Amino acid sequence: MTKEIYKNIWMSEIPLHRTPLKTINNYVIKDGKKALIIDTGFNHSLSKDAFFNNLSNLDIDIAQSEVIITHLHSDHSGLAAELYQLGAKLYFSGIDGKIAKEMGQDSRWKELEEMMFQFGFPKDANSFDTNPAKEYSTKSDFEYTVLKEGDKIIFGNFELEVVSVPGHTPDMINLYDRKHKLYFSADHVLDEITPNIGYWGKKYTVILNQYFSSLKKIYDFDIEVMLPSHRGIISNHKKRIDELLEHHEERLEEVIKILEEKNKKMTVVEVAMNMNWRIRAKSWDEFPQPQKWFASGEAMSHLEYLAYKNKINYEIENDIFYFSKK
Ligand SMILES: [Zn+2]
Repeated sequence: MTKEIYKNIWMSEIPLHRTPLKTINNYVIKDGKKALIIDTGFNHSLSKDAFFNNLSNLDIDIAQSEVIITHLHSDHSGLAAELYQLGAKLYFSGIDGKIAKEMGQDSRWKELEEMMFQFGFPKDANSFDTNPAKEYSTKSDFEYTVLKEGDKIIFGNFELEVVSVPGHTPDMINLYDRKHKLYFSADHVLDEITPNIGYWGKKYTVILNQYFSSLKKIYDFDIEVMLPSHRGIISNHKKRIDELLEHHEERLEEVIKILEEKNKKMTVVEVAMNMNWRIRAKSWDEFPQPQKWFASGEAMSHLEYLAYKNKINYEIENDIFYFSKK
């Protein structure tokens, strides 16, 4: 389904195979045969067919077009290499672009498997082989132009300013057209669902704190239409940001309560098992492996934040993270 949501801006829902997200909103800003495309869908035939059908229906020449990838996740960057090979100019933020290139290499996934061990997963259960994030990620053979805070991309009648919003990933970017009061929020602000805030290792410390700052940063922006990468268009971004901040406050309280009630040293996985999740599964054991990974990453970002605020205890023993109440 493709519709013109603003003069010369087309939105199309690209299907995502095997994920609870179901679809990604792909945005195409048209200027004759040229397009500025925001994000791509998975490197999987279901996404690919929809993506290219859409471009051909809009009569876009990919070789004359530019593609901005808002962040490294495979549902956003999956077709990056393929589009580059077809002659499109690619843009990425510095860190997310670098990590997206590494996703085609085994060492990246070995690192994440090591992190699963630190979270308390059993060693033999640590595999990303069946995770869509790995299976449908982009290949590594692409070059890109780095985008950073304040950069401007002028395309047709639009002037898109880059806004750096780390949190959902270490270096996610949004795009803001002040004149038209349009804001492409990627996975920074979503409606109906809450953006996943995971853990990215010691290099990117207290990512939840960064996420809070990034939400507050855009709160007072003059925005009429917020265009997110999943689910519906957002008309009242302040209300949604308030709800997201509130959601994380509740999550932080929930985590403290679990540590107090259990009154023992707990691994990240043990905490995640005791949190409430909006997923159709009777027990933690029934969670599909990728959802276990997302849930434990989400638990870890909240635990890391609480330890940083000195509200809980944190220790590392035999390479495994443990948390307990103060
Ligand atoms: Zn994402």
